Amino acid sequence: MTPTIALPADVRFLLDTLQNGGYEAYIVGGCVRDSILGRIPQDWDITTSALPEQTKALFSHTFDTGIQHGTITVVHNHTNYEITTYRIDGAYDDARHPNAVSFTSRLEEDLLRRDFTMNAIAYHPQVGFRDPFGGRADIARGCIRGVGDPATRFQEDALRMLRCVRFAAQLGFSVEEQTYRALQEHAALIEKISVERIYQELDKLWKAPYPQKLPLLLQSGLLPHIDQTLAQRISEQSPQLMTQLTAVPPRSALRWTLVLQTYTEAEAKALCKKLKFDNTTTRHILTLLRHLLQQPPQTPYTVRKLTGELGVETMQQLLCLQDALYGAETTLHTREILSLVLNAGDCLNLKMLAVDGKQLQQAGVPAGKAVGEMLALLLDDVLHTPAHNHTDYLLARAAQIQAIKKE
Ligand code: ATP
Ligand code: MG
Repeated sequence: MTPTIALPADVRFLLDTLQNGGYEAYIVGGCVRDSILGRIPQDWDITTSALPEQTKALFSHTFDTGIQHGTITVVHNHTNYEITTYRIDGAYDDARHPNAVSFTSRLEEDLLRRDFTMNAIAYHPQVGFRDPFGGRADIARGCIRGVGDPATRFQEDALRMLRCVRFAAQLGFSVEEQTYRALQEHAALIEKISVERIYQELDKLWKAPYPQKLPLLLQSGLLPHIDQTLAQRISEQSPQLMTQLTAVPPRSALRWTLVLQTYTEAEAKALCKKLKFDNTTTRHILTLLRHLLQQPPQTPYTVRKLTGELGVETMQQLLCLQDALYGAETTLHTREILSLVLNAGDCLNLKMLAVDGKQLQQAGVPAGKAVGEMLALLLDDVLHTPAHNHTDYLLARAAQIQAIKKE
């Protein structure tokens, strides 16, 4: 029913090596699902009957990534591949991690521990598909269904609920009825999951191509258990938010800025801290939020000034966000000016200024605060009149300003 999967030569090599070593080996999980869907897999995971030590013995370059869970990373042609031994997860007491894992020689048992039927399909070019839970049929009907009893599966690992909504938004799939009921029933368990893992899933969710699935996050009750305010704000913004999200490139900072568009800077900062965003992303989001509500600059001077402050890329991102929020005509004039400014190579910041602090000191500006102040004055002059960005002019101008100060 499903065409065969075209495996990259390297993946084929790994499967053959395991097979020639006397073990079973299949590609499994996301790469099989994505291949069936005609999407390019991000990585190729392999599942095998070989024990970790046996896998290691077959390959020259390996390292232990999650050996306690049976995962070995094999480096082949400068690419990392994860090879995991068929595994049964033991009981879960904390809605996060199995208490223990054990290895098995039966592929079906390994597939049984996986979250959704579409993620529980294995494939080998000679054997074909091993699909005991009807994953391919679910993929064909665009349906996310838990493997086994979804309620039990969500109680074992609550992150699966958020993965469920994320996959719906990534693939445009719907959630099968019993799986959805289990999700609603157990939504509160998401509180047991670490913020790092929640952040990762939300981040993928905002970047997903089917934001019309976002209401699942609210209707399932998941988001209120992650952050009450975020849930409240998103429910107030939907459905505009859903259209806005797809109007900007799938970059974390851009998508998060849209999600947090009604947040004050302090509120946004607190949420970034709570969800443990990295510092660069936090700063980027706060910068974009700070300027989002301001009218885009309308004169060459103000365009140069803001572009210099933000950097060209962030400036362009800001305009892109403002287009998504207020319509493309909002930034039309600014974009025209920006394009002229960039084509002309106008000076936008101190780095591009034709003098530096050292030259100013040599020309008699006292070291320290005065140098910084003089550079700021000269930059402002050049932002007004780009033709002034010449060393001779700027040194003469500095001398003039010094003289006026002394009077
Ligand atoms: P993507 O990489 O596109 O996010 P994926 O399905 O490959 O999607 P991974 O997190 O890379 O997801 O996991 C690989 C496979 O491991 C999944 O396809 C699934 O079979 C299994 N898996 C991952 N996380 C879980 C989980 N929390 N519970 C059960 N099985 C899981
Ligand atoms: Mg994956």
